[in-house]
Amino acid sequence: MTWADAHRLANIAAAKAHAQLGIDPGKLPIDVAEAIMASGAILMWRPMPRLFGVYINDPGSSPGILVNSDLTPGARRFTAAHELGHHFLEHTTCTDEADCPSTMPTGDDSIYSLRERRGWTPTEKMAEAFAAWFLMPRRAVSSALRVLALDRPRDATDVYRLSLMLGVPHAAILRHLMNLRLATSDQVRRWSRESPGQIKRRLDNNLGMPASRWPDVWTLTPAFDGRTITVHDGDRLCVRVAAGYDVTAPDWLPEVAATAAGDGGPSMSSSATARSAESVRSPCLMVRQIRGPGTPFSWMRPTHLSG
Ligand SMILES: [Zn+2]
Repeated sequence: MTWADAHRLANIAAAKAHAQLGIDPGKLPIDVAEAIMASGAILMWRPMPRLFGVYINDPGSSPGILVNSDLTPGARRFTAAHELGHHFLEHTTCTDEADCPSTMPTGDDSIYSLRERRGWTPTEKMAEAFAAWFLMPRRAVSSALRVLALDRPRDATDVYRLSLMLGVPHAAILRHLMNLRLATSDQVRRWSRESPGQIKRRLDNNLGMPASRWPDVWTLTPAFDGRTITVHDGDRLCVRVAAGYDVTAPDWLPEVAATAAGDGGPSMSSSATARSAESVRSPCLMVRQIRGPGTPFSWMRPTHLSG
């Protein structure tokens, strides 16, 4: 089975799964935990050095999905969707090993791109392609592009922002853009030269270097008004407002820095870092009243949802 065959079949299987499990493919991000619950499988998270995830389907017991909780949030979701693929496609028990166990604890997104793409069995290709189409169906990608006011990604930064909206690893959306015919292989190759860490540094203008580049950097625009986004420990939220307006962040979102941004016009860039006690359950941020430069905005308190 070629990867093209796997993607053609997995696209259809993922659409069927959305319909059967009651998942709206236009809603961001696609709730894979809810889908797994609706599918009748048990979902568990735990640190598992050397493993991405495991699908357990043994005679006489309930099917179960185990995901390594040490992965980045995007990689966790992608792994959960991969294991859901095994379940939905009625595969037998399967262990998904990480090829680079030594890099696992850092949680860098790049581990995902290091996963061997050659020599996969048809079963593994199907589960992997299923994960891509389950989390990144055309409708979800279109919704994400609309919020970002784009027809298609123009550069590596757009791809990174798209990965946040869809809740997938950067490497996963990069690869999937070609399946979606939203980028050429040349563009993908060029954009993949920049690491997520470099993109994050540019997005938050290096405002107070964080201890780790694992957390994400969100650039919020007026189009995020009324949207709910899921932020994790240490994520930074950057907003740009006209000079003279204060950025007031609540206490759960301590401000890192506010500084004049340099790309023309009187603007301010402010960056705040999310703090939460729980690692798997994530605070959910409701963005309110961001109406663009010249108007003040406020933040709502987070509500806790299971991640
Ligand atoms: Zn697998």
